[in-house]
Amino acid sequence: MKEICNIIPKGRFAPSPTGRMHMGNVFTALLSWLSVRSRGGKWVLRIEDLDPQRSKVEHSRRIEDDLHWLELEWDEGGLDNSGDAGPYCQSGRHGIYERFLSRLKETGLVYGCTCTRADIMATQAPHQSDGRVIYGGRCRPGCLPASYIEPHKPHSERLYVPDRMMTFDDVVYGRQSVNLASHCGDFVLRRADGAWAYQLAVVVDDAMMGITEVVRGNDLLLSTGQQLYLYDLLGFSAPRFAHVPLVCNKAGQRLSKRDAGMGMDEMRLKYSSEDIIGRLACMAGLIDEPQPVTPSALLDIFDWEKVRKEDVCVI
Ligand code: GLU
Repeated sequence: MKEICNIIPKGRFAPSPTGRMHMGNVFTALLSWLSVRSRGGKWVLRIEDLDPQRSKVEHSRRIEDDLHWLELEWDEGGLDNSGDAGPYCQSGRHGIYERFLSRLKETGLVYGCTCTRADIMATQAPHQSDGRVIYGGRCRPGCLPASYIEPHKPHSERLYVPDRMMTFDDVVYGRQSVNLASHCGDFVLRRADGAWAYQLAVVVDDAMMGITEVVRGNDLLLSTGQQLYLYDLLGFSAPRFAHVPLVCNKAGQRLSKRDAGMGMDEMRLKYSSEDIIGRLACMAGLIDEPQPVTPSALLDIFDWEKVRKEDVCVI
């Protein structure tokens, strides 16, 4: 499909540096890179190191080294913060998130929530079959919008959601509809310990970095409803979303950073970078056989129509 407007496509890869990348992370990176590069676009590397306990700068360095080795080069971002929209590590962006939290507070839809994890479990809305916890509303002011009142106890900042359907057209999975109240519930923007929540940070960063296309695993499809709501409240225009199948191990379970043999350490010992790209391209449905190939050699044949919807087993 032709681009409707003449904005240069801008994609991003947003890894959390909590360990070595595995084949699933590289799968997402490759599809995101191909999607924007095949249309002459730019690619941003953003380090999502919001979790201070689990994020390590040495993991970020290894991620950068793996991306160079795979020939997935970025134009902006990374540890050296090249580009105009930095810093590109979320740990350096507290002031920016603060500013947008204040803007959200002005809508009257944010309230201080003093519930502990145990309170939330005890008062959650009727059980979700997939184990998600929907906030039961114990701290929610009776009549919203309300002016923000700072509670005296440690508290998180929680955003009220209406009973509204958020609908979007996913590039891979087609039309998606998420009901904010029943699928997500009021959600946290900043935790009681001061840590910023992923939902706020990702929206602010994607908007401030001018991202036009978000490519990520299909486990984040539901989150997109919450994020579109934030785009609306903050007056940003939303990017397009392409959720991609998850990569599973031979036992059919989603890969995790603990999966033995699937991390980039082991893969780099066993295979060349072209072997890995070829395997991933075949898993995605872009080529029929897993023959060695560079990312650039896939640019001409890349087409979202070819990308599989079902989760894929690593080959
Ligand atoms: N940091 C997230 C992860 O590594 C990605 C979030 C996103 O792409 O929106 O899973």
